[in-house]
Amino acid sequence: MGRVFVLVGPPGSGKGTQAELLRERFGLVHFDMGGELRREMASGSELGETIAGYVNQGKLVPLPIIAEIVGKFLRENKRADILFDGFPRSLEQAEVLDRAIEGEGELELRAVFNFVIPKEMLLERVVYRRLCPECGAVYNLRTSPPREDELCDRCGAKLIQRSDDREEVFLERYETQYEGYVVPVIQHYRKMGKVIDIDATRSVGEIFAQLEESVAQGQ
Ligand code: AMP
Repeated sequence: MGRVFVLVGPPGSGKGTQAELLRERFGLVHFDMGGELRREMASGSELGETIAGYVNQGKLVPLPIIAEIVGKFLRENKRADILFDGFPRSLEQAEVLDRAIEGEGELELRAVFNFVIPKEMLLERVVYRRLCPECGAVYNLRTSPPREDELCDRCGAKLIQRSDDREEVFLERYETQYEGYVVPVIQHYRKMGKVIDIDATRSVGEIFAQLEESVAQGQ
């Protein structure tokens, strides 16, 4: 039976960094919806252009596109232990996941890790965030810069800034997406007793220690 873990939190709360550590530690299959969408955007396809229209304004990409991407991923990863990052991001997306879990009979929702951090701490993280387009490593020019000026420590590629990591897009992502759509998802899973709150103001190591303990339980 595949175990399903979900990371939810506002933009810049450190989900991607922790997802990468959990993937390395437990061999979970990491599904990063934002990364999937950015890959499609970079491919220059028609679908990618449609997606960019939403992402660059900080808006949620419509459900049919999201459901298609998730459906394909689930078909290709039957019975795997999965870590969802950036999905589900609305109640209708949570229904897609819940139906897949019920219908499949091969998946079990273990925990929804809710990254909690005040809004004031996020803008700086997002504006200084840089990303490796090759391997996905995440840096912050202030708090965790690469060794060499804007080059990835791991693979040497030139780091990029995400097109949506700008102040005005951050506000849209926080207020409309997070407060409007993600908070109800957290409430939905809290009612089901699945939510574990994570104080995301702590260091990467402290947060990882808590996540590691939760994921390791009952292995
Ligand atoms: P992220 O990399 O998780 O910050 O996501 C970047 C952007 O991709 C978001 O601001 C949305 O525009 C889009 N996006 C990511 N995940 C979803 C999702 N589950 N549903 C709709 N849009 C999404």
